[in-house]
Amino acid sequence: MDETLHDAIVIGGGPAGLQAALTLGRTHRDVVVLDSGAYRNDPADAMHNVLGFDGTPPAEFRAAAHRTLAAYDTVELRRTTAHEVAAFDSADTGTSGDGFVVRTDDGDVRARRLLLATGLRDELPDTPGVADLFGTVAAHCPYCHGHEFSGTPVGILGSGTHVARVAGLMERIASRLVVLADGGTLDPDVRAALEGRDVAVRHEKVLKVEPTLLDGGHRGALAVLDDGEPELLGGLMVMPSLHQSAPFAEQLGLELRESGCVAVDAMGRTSRPGVLAAGDLAHTADFPMPMASVTAAMSAGQIAAAAIDGDLLGV
Ligand SMILES: Cc1cc2nc3c(=O)[nH]c(=O)nc-3n(C[C@H](O)[C@H](O)[C@H](O)COP(=O)(O)OP(=O)(O)OC[C@H]3O[C@@H](n4cnc5c(N)ncnc54)[C@H](O)[C@@H]3O)c2cc1C
Repeated sequence: MDETLHDAIVIGGGPAGLQAALTLGRTHRDVVVLDSGAYRNDPADAMHNVLGFDGTPPAEFRAAAHRTLAAYDTVELRRTTAHEVAAFDSADTGTSGDGFVVRTDDGDVRARRLLLATGLRDELPDTPGVADLFGTVAAHCPYCHGHEFSGTPVGILGSGTHVARVAGLMERIASRLVVLADGGTLDPDVRAALEGRDVAVRHEKVLKVEPTLLDGGHRGALAVLDDGEPELLGGLMVMPSLHQSAPFAEQLGLELRESGCVAVDAMGRTSRPGVLAAGDLAHTADFPMPMASVTAAMSAGQIAAAAIDGDLLGV
């Protein structure tokens, strides 16, 4: 058993958690990162919109981050799954909060502060074929995977309010935009936003999407509808439902926002002293939605680490 009372435990070895560990390591804080190895961008063959790493496979980015962290003696990366988090009182924990014990596959770990960086899980539309294409031809975020569909026909699956926003972002990129309402009725705001724009709407149910190649070898998808011609697409924008990927916010009774993400202040502090959250799972009041991206997660991780440092210093 690990008897050490560490300065901090970071649960999550994605961009938020790894960046937080780097920042804490640079002030020689004793930090343990717990990483179960399930990353949100696992399905993507390359990541984009990350300066210096545009087009890099996520696993390569993580390997580079691990090499960086290996230079810091007080940072330990443990490949293990955490199951339960609880607070404990200890005279050693400092003046401004409890200590925390995290139960993992490999025993308990204790620390004075806790950073949750466990990310979100995507629940995809149940249209057959979407899951297989997610991360390549099917994508949820035009900033991450929009430019890659340049000059090809792009479909937008669904009928909710996301359709108008995605159409607005993709109209300069796609050769043709088609909304696949999938048997749903377009939200009135979406209808109004699409009026006068060069966006086709197909109302039929989408029976399946299957991988295919476009002219020139560009990978694409064929959307088969229950009536009429199929749509040949170079990209398909989808809107997953997002869920916390770990139970710790619930176990700790943290306040959540309507988005389902953990409510944090600008420094990453949650509603519970000593517990911080950074990355996709967290949401500050200043943002209209969780700003879920690699660089946003890194930025939040760095800021939360500085907050932990400040809290431990009592300043
Ligand atoms: C298909 C896809 C493609 C994407 N492409 C891009 C892109 O191109 N550019 C971009 O900027 N963003 C992209 N994103 C978004 C990006 O992946 C996230 O914003 C980013 O990964 C968030 O980082 P994070 O550290 O918060 O969470 P994650 O990267 O999801 O990391 C979560 C970490 O928590 C760990 N964890 C979870 N539960 C436990 C547990 N119980 N015990 C121990 N560890 C645990 C996981 O193993 C993992 O290490 C994409 C997302 C998806 C779904």
